[in-house]
Amino acid sequence: MEKRQFETLRIRLERQRQEARQFLSRFKRETGSLEQDVPQDSADRSVIHLSQESLFEQASQRQQILRRVERAMQRMDEGSFGVCAECGKDIPLRRLEVLPWTQYCVHCQEMIERGEERGSSRVERNGEGLRRTG
Ligand SMILES: [Zn+2]
Repeated sequence: MEKRQFETLRIRLERQRQEARQFLSRFKRETGSLEQDVPQDSADRSVIHLSQESLFEQASQRQQILRRVERAMQRMDEGSFGVCAECGKDIPLRRLEVLPWTQYCVHCQEMIERGEERGSSRVERNGEGLRRTG
């Protein structure tokens, strides 16, 4: 990977990290105040509860992103960024531009996701992914 591309991705990750952190600190402040303001038996409670729930969802998403971003930045420092943690091949730049915190190439990501589903028996698909070495 070119240094310029690397730096662009690092800046993008830093922005993501900042955005996630800001959201989370705002979330903590707001949920803190929401808890105090919620009346025990009010008709409004369900509404508050609902908006709180989607907030929680967003917060947990941000937390996940934050964790991934931080790990990716760690890999940048270690020099293992942009290399698939599973097969050791370079992750295509196009993929990194969409998901700068990803640890795996598309092929391995699919394998892992399929493995997590665990539904059907292992499908042996000799796709190009396996043959395209180097
Ligand atoms: Zn891979």
